[in-house]
Order: sequence, then structure tokens, then C-alpha cells
Amino acid sequence: MMEQSSIDLWKPVKVVKLKIYRYNPKKDFSPKWKEYEIEVSRGTTILDALIRIKEEVDPSLSFRYSCGQALCGSCAMMVNGRQMLVCRTRVLEAAHNRDFVELRPLDNFPVIRDLAGDFTSFFEKHRAIKPWIIRRDFEELDNPTGEYKQTIEEYARYYQFTDCLKCGACYSACPTVATDHEYLGPQALAQAYRYMVDSRDDGLDERIAILDSDHGCWRCHFAASCSDVCPKYVDPAQGIQLLKKLIVRRKFGLKPHRPSDALPSKIGEVKRR
Ligand code: SF4
Ligand code: SF4
Repeated sequence: MMEQSSIDLWKPVKVVKLKIYRYNPKKDFSPKWKEYEIEVSRGTTILDALIRIKEEVDPSLSFRYSCGQALCGSCAMMVNGRQMLVCRTRVLEAAHNRDFVELRPLDNFPVIRDLAGDFTSFFEKHRAIKPWIIRRDFEELDNPTGEYKQTIEEYARYYQFTDCLKCGACYSACPTVATDHEYLGPQALAQAYRYMVDSRDDGLDERIAILDSDHGCWRCHFAASCSDVCPKYVDPAQGIQLLKKLIVRRKFGLKPHRPSDALPSKIGEVKRR
């Protein structure tokens, strides 16, 4: 039975036309569209189709991918006008009720070539929010007396944001990024929230200047198109609104909740005295 269904999955069932954006800014005067027809089975993903076109039809076609299983986030592109990971989108799904499948690079990213966008600015913004746990108990870090404990509730506050692949889909869908190229964008802001709400983190003061700036979280209009396209069901729009709340609390002198039992025993004892 298993054998039968796997054969059906890979049996060619249809010829589909892919209309692909082609542009090499170093030598082309303007972008153009090129069409390729390819025979697909029920299981063929758009990434499979692109790889086949590159290997068998047109080796000059450029696109980015790595893991092929929706874990690395590098194959995000516009499929029929919507941000998607092509490794987990089947051609037949995208071609449903259409004459062709249209592929172009992610909006809001400069084109390097064809379907590959330039992520330099995106990753600079990600780095700018210091995406790591910041602590000030240097003595404890150098000579640990125990582990940093965390309750399930504390973990639940940031857990969904740890699923972020840095695929850029949310950034590409954001209308604010489209009009303000310096805006940090949904990915970086949601990651800032992820670290600042972590009970082990003490980096609020270090991150506040950039987050509470002209191009920080207040530029977000909460249209939520970022959350709508996230392939990992992260909700960056929600993270940004919670980040705003965190910053307002700080302005009123209210500290984020940080129970002492999240700390190693030695520090916990000092705090409890
Ligand atoms: S939040 Fe979602 S859409 Fe945005 S970069 Fe992370 S995984 Fe991609
Ligand atoms: S909710 Fe904010 S970050 Fe998300 S798309 Fe809208 S403006 Fe951009």
C-alpha cells in the first residue's frame, strides 16, 4: 500500500508553465520574464522544479536554497505575488486554477540576480538589536554556581519567536519597510522582544535606544501583513505590540517581572536577602 502511494506521488501528471523573473543588475538594462514548461508530479515542489530547470534547461537561472525542508529559510520568494518558501510549496498547489506559476524575488530586497535578493540590510538590522542573552553577572558567568532556571510560563512568553527562520517573508510583506528603508522591520523587532522578555536577559537598557527610535517599533502600524505570511506561524506583529508595551512600562519605571528563582542559586540567595 505504502509503495503504491509513493509511486503515485512521483508519477508525472501535468505540464506546468513557470513564469520566472530574470535580472542581472550588473549587465541587464531592465528585468524580463522568461517562461519554462516542466512536467510535474503531485509531489514536485517549486524548489524541485527550479533545480530541474537549472540542471537540465537553463544553468544561468539563479536562486537561493539550502536545506530543502523549511528549516533554513533561504528559499523564500514571491509565488504568484505572495511570500512563500518554495521548498514546501508544491507546483500543482501553486498552479491551481491558473495558467502559469509566477516566481519573482522577495519584495523589499534589492535583487542580486534573478530570484536571489540581497539580505545585507535585513541581517544588519537583526544584528543591531543584539540577538543574544545579555547578562551583567560576569562573576557568575565566569564561575557558574548553577543553571539559570526558567518556568514553563516564562519560556512560553518567547517560545513562538524562537521558530523564526530569518527567511525575510515578513520583512518583504511589510508596507512600512517599503516606505522607510531604515525601519528595523518585523523580524528584528520581534526578535528584540524575544530576548527582552526572556527572564534570563538583562539587555533592555542596551537595546532601548534603537528600538525606541524614529525607525524603531513606533513606526509599525500593526497592519499584520508580516504575521499573515510567516511560514513558521510566528506572529511578529504581536511581538512588536508587546515590545511597545514593554518600552512604555519602562518609561513609567515599571520593571519587567523577573522572579529570583530564575537565577542560579548563589545569585538568587543574594537577591532574596
Ligand atoms: S518571523 Fe516568520 S516570516 Fe519573519 S523572518 Fe522569521 S520565520 Fe520568516
Ligand atoms: S504589523 Fe508592523 S511590522 Fe508587521 S507588516 Fe504591519 S507595519 Fe510592518
